[in-house]
Amino acid sequence: MTTKFFEKSRKERIDEIVKFAKLDPEERKILEGHGGIGFEQADKMVENAIGTFSFPLGIATNFVINNKEYLVPMVIEEPSVIAAASKAAKIAKIHGGFSMKNDESYSIGQIQIINVNPKDATQKILSHSKEILDLANTKSNTLSKMGKGARELSCKEISTPAGTMLIMELLIDVGDAMGANVTNTMCEGIASLVEKISGGKVLLRILSNYSTRRLVSGSAIFDKEELGGEQIVDNIILAYQFADNDEYRAVTHNKGILNGIIAAANATGQDTRAIEAAAHAYAAKSGKYRSLTQWSKNSQGDLVGKIELPMSVGLVGGIINVHPTAKVCAKILQINTASELACVLVAVGLAQNLSAIRALASEGIQKGHMKLHARNIAAAAGAEPEQIDSIAEKMVQEGKISINRARELVGS
Ligand code: NAD
Repeated sequence: MTTKFFEKSRKERIDEIVKFAKLDPEERKILEGHGGIGFEQADKMVENAIGTFSFPLGIATNFVINNKEYLVPMVIEEPSVIAAASKAAKIAKIHGGFSMKNDESYSIGQIQIINVNPKDATQKILSHSKEILDLANTKSNTLSKMGKGARELSCKEISTPAGTMLIMELLIDVGDAMGANVTNTMCEGIASLVEKISGGKVLLRILSNYSTRRLVSGSAIFDKEELGGEQIVDNIILAYQFADNDEYRAVTHNKGILNGIIAAANATGQDTRAIEAAAHAYAAKSGKYRSLTQWSKNSQGDLVGKIELPMSVGLVGGIINVHPTAKVCAKILQINTASELACVLVAVGLAQNLSAIRALASEGIQKGHMKLHARNIAAAAGAEPEQIDSIAEKMVQEGKISINRARELVGS
């Protein structure tokens, strides 16, 4: 299915999505609408609301992840991203697609304890672990009923210019939620007990977005012929080495990975700031900011891409079950668990990275990018919808993509 999805009309694309995800007429109507939420919903979500703000929703095709086919909804304003993800997924499919794994989904809550001897307090806290975990677990009936909830705790000492402090960390199996609220609730709920046990004073009680116990890792093989041959494979590996050894390149390289992850996360109503913060911190885990992916070639000369990063996402909670389009997007993905969603997002990140570095290591990104950029410029210059493609094409042919040239062409 989904051959030449990009050549279809909007109606044909929606027909295909409806069939693939077995959407009902109501869900179809949401896709055909204007972006999901009205003012009343917006007004309940944020303060001082005055309206809503729409973004494009597109579908990345060709994804096979852990032997399952996916159509990936992506919400993003940047041209080329969806096409690039689809292209990379198509190449990965030749050798079986993406193999991804997410072993555990523990959220981390932090409790800052001051005015204590850290060593004594650590001993006291650890010897009362069960009591603390039991109290934490009374704060969420839902998680307890599901056999999930607070699982472990640990303590670490940090030295600061303001003195030594003890940080207690609570590890919570948050099931299919991002779990920010339940984590904060549990941390606040056990603070008095922790003070009593440690003899110190608890200050902050809050989730850490550095979700290193929610890592997703995975890999894919990209066929050397499809990529353009051995030289391109070698150049991609050199491009990766540049990123892995130079922060200025690595930040842009990882931004490209996040282009895909954040677009798919937006579509499914995730907290994208949490994902980005964790990704960048993880890129710097060695003490130096590096690439979130690794690229090498196998004995056949095909390109092998690997990726690993924290992925804190949910299928329940936040706006996931509130935003109508996010709900339909989750249905399009046909995901059953938050862990599966995390794997999809990270696979999209790997695909996005492949497309970006393949273009950079061969013809450069401007050729493909500028075509789409030219359409935006044409629209910004006031071109009518039926004029946009021809004006964009003319500007690309002339090698002169500017708002002034677009205005001239609109008026001609
Ligand atoms: P939430 O509190 O809205 O919903 C999660 C709740 O859903 C759980 O507490 C549980 O009671 C219930 N639930 C039902 N079925 C479940 C299942 N199968 N698995 C797990 N829980 C289930 O949402 P959340 O995930 O706690 O928080 C997400 C929201 O919190 C996001 O909007 C995020 O932006 C926001 N937030 C983020 C931060 C941060 O990142 N630092 C801090 C505070 C809030």
